[in-house]
Amino acid sequence: MSTTQTNKFEIIKASTSKINEVDFENLSFGSVFTDHLLECDYTNGQWQKPVIKPYAPFLLDPSVRVFHYGQAIFEGMKAYKDDDEALWLFRPDENYKRFNNSAVRMAMPEVPEEVFIEGLNQLLQLDEAWVKKGKGNTLYIRPFMIATGTGVIASPSNDYKFMIILSPAKSYYSGEVKVLIAEHYSRAANGGIGAAKAAGNYGAQFYPTSLANKEGFQQVIWTDDATHTKLEEAGTMNVFFRINDTLLTAPVSERILDGITRKSLIDIAEKEGIDVQIRPVLVSELVEASKNGTLKEIFGAGTAAVVNPIVGFSYQDVYYELPKTEDSMALRLKDMLTNIQHKLAEDTFGWTV
Ligand code: PMP
Repeated sequence: MSTTQTNKFEIIKASTSKINEVDFENLSFGSVFTDHLLECDYTNGQWQKPVIKPYAPFLLDPSVRVFHYGQAIFEGMKAYKDDDEALWLFRPDENYKRFNNSAVRMAMPEVPEEVFIEGLNQLLQLDEAWVKKGKGNTLYIRPFMIATGTGVIASPSNDYKFMIILSPAKSYYSGEVKVLIAEHYSRAANGGIGAAKAAGNYGAQFYPTSLANKEGFQQVIWTDDATHTKLEEAGTMNVFFRINDTLLTAPVSERILDGITRKSLIDIAEKEGIDVQIRPVLVSELVEASKNGTLKEIFGAGTAAVVNPIVGFSYQDVYYELPKTEDSMALRLKDMLTNIQHKLAEDTFGWTV
């Protein structure tokens, strides 16, 4: 291992790389990690010098607050390589802002830009070989922060650890996705933490989602907690509905994550002249549109899967199948977005850096 000190970072390079052990053609999402990670501790009221070092497990005191009170947040973003082997990020400033919004909501310190953005750039330079060129190949980036202060006292921690880990990826979901519309369980409530990428939001979905899985549904579309009549979002995706040629999606709110894929697709669709309506979408409207044949498509949108077409939904024990479309809006928009991300089309929005 070799160590380099700059005035901003300490860089400890791994003596060997694991890259040759990885089968890049058969990656299971989020299970393989690159050679290095970034770590930065918050102690004594300030962020310490970030360290980039070999990926490895670490020790924590059993009383650290993340274990007991769930102060934990994360982000999900991707790096891409173009045909000239240049490395690109897609709207990283949006992930950075959202991360710090999540931090504020969870009473955690905001992470400085030099740590999050510059740290990520440094880390990517080191593990650059793990990003493969070609559409569909990406490097999934997982920044996260946990409360590392000790003591089983239900109050915010004084100490935190921020980390970035990197995982090479192909695509997230495979196969047909059937969804169950939530009638009892909720993902988020007004005044709650639905709009934050807080770890607990995901843990809380596992049980109701596992019940849906047993009935043959891969995902749940969450509805508003108060009335269960408005369609909100899926596990790790915002959702879009195409009725005739109009694209509908719920407005972001305290209960819904402000997805970067969602807002990028809205901009692309509007530029394409597609009628996009951002308004509450009712379950009754969806059922009605399915019955009268105007419901053409439903799809999820998120960094991991980009766009995930849904083949049918169940509500009140009735299964509604979607028609097969020749001119899928989901796939057309996905293609346009991934072409921008992979630098295969001109980025007129200025999203790639
Ligand atoms: N909703 C939730 C709950 C999510 O976890 C995600 C993934 N971050 C999304 C929507 C999609 O957001 P993005 O497009 O920024 O990945």
